[in-house]
Amino acid sequence: MTAPRNTRSTRNIWRPLFLVYFVCSVGVLSVIADDSPGATSVARWKDDRTAAFMLMFDDSCPSHWQVAIPELAKRDMIATFYLNPGKAEFTKFRGGWETNYWKQGMVYADHTMTHKGVHNMDEAEHEIGDCAAIIRKIIPNSDAKLLSYGQPGVGPNDWKITKDELAGLLKKHNLITRGEISGHMAVYHLKTAADMLALADKAIANKTAEFIVIHGVERIVPDWHYQDFWALKQNIFFPLLDGLKERRDRGALWITDHISAHQYQTERDGADVRVIAADDRGIKLELKSKADPQLYDLPLTLITKVPTGWKQCEVTQGTNKTTVAVAAGSIHFDAIPNRDPIVISPQQ
Ligand SMILES: [Zn+2]
Repeated sequence: MTAPRNTRSTRNIWRPLFLVYFVCSVGVLSVIADDSPGATSVARWKDDRTAAFMLMFDDSCPSHWQVAIPELAKRDMIATFYLNPGKAEFTKFRGGWETNYWKQGMVYADHTMTHKGVHNMDEAEHEIGDCAAIIRKIIPNSDAKLLSYGQPGVGPNDWKITKDELAGLLKKHNLITRGEISGHMAVYHLKTAADMLALADKAIANKTAEFIVIHGVERIVPDWHYQDFWALKQNIFFPLLDGLKERRDRGALWITDHISAHQYQTERDGADVRVIAADDRGIKLELKSKADPQLYDLPLTLITKVPTGWKQCEVTQGTNKTTVAVAAGSIHFDAIPNRDPIVISPQQ
C-alpha cells in the first residue's frame, strides 16, 4: 500500500489509521512474546529469590571476627561490616581486616574514621573520605566502586554538617547511605531471634529488602571478661542465622551486602531487555539499564522462555559462558546490563 506523502491533508487522514494499526500490532506482539521463545523478564531479586536481606555489623567490634564471621562462614553467608579504621578496636587488629575477612566474601563499609562525629567540612572529609580511602586500599580494584555508608550515632553537638553537605561528600566518594536504622537495631529495637526473623518474613511477604544492624556479639570463648557494646547473645544470634539460612535454602531470601542489593535494585528498576532474535536454533537478547555502567555492574538474573524440547542451554555474554538446565520451559541465568548481547543456544 502506498499513500500520498506530500500534503498535510492526506497525512492527517492516515495518522489515526496508523495509530490504530500501531497500537494493535504492539498489543498482539506483546501477547505472543510473553510465552514464546525469547520472552524474558528480569528477576525481582538475584537468583529469582523472593526478597533480599542484609546483616550489618557496626563499629569494628572484635567479636565480629571472633564470633560472627566464623558463624556466617559456616552457613555460607556474608554480611556488611561498618568499619572505623581510626578506632583502637580496628587498629589493634588491623591485620585480620586487611588480609582476611574480605577474602571470605565479607563486605566493608564506611562508618567514619573515629565515630566521634564531625564539626566542620574538613573533619567530615577526613572522617568520611579517609575511611573510604582506607577500605579501597584494602580491597583490590575498588577505587571506582560503590561503598556503603552508615551514619555513626553521635549527639547533635557532634554532627555539624548539613544534609546537603553530607550528600555532596557521599557523592564525591561514591558512597551510598544505608539510610535510617530506626527499628532495625538488634538488642535495642529487636530483642529476640523471632523479632528479627519477623523482619525477614516481612521482606518476603512484600518482596522487598530488609536489614538488621548488630553491634557486639556475645563472646564465650575467648573470655575477655567483658563484652562488646550491645553484645547480642549467642543463643539469639545462632538461631537468627539458622532461621535466615532456612529461608535462603528454600529460595525465599537473598542474603547479601548493602551495595549488592542497592546495585541490583537500581539496575533492575532501569532495565530493558530486547529480543534481537529467537527461533529453534537460538536466542539473542540485549540487556540495557539506565544505571551508570561504571558503578552498576552487578549481574541481573534473567528468566527466558526457550523453545519446546530444549533440555540444557549454553548462555554466552562476551567472554562469560555458562551452561544452564531448562526447568518448566525457562532458564535462569546472570547477565550484566550494558555489555555484549546475550546468546543462548541449545545443548544436546
Ligand atoms: Zn556505630
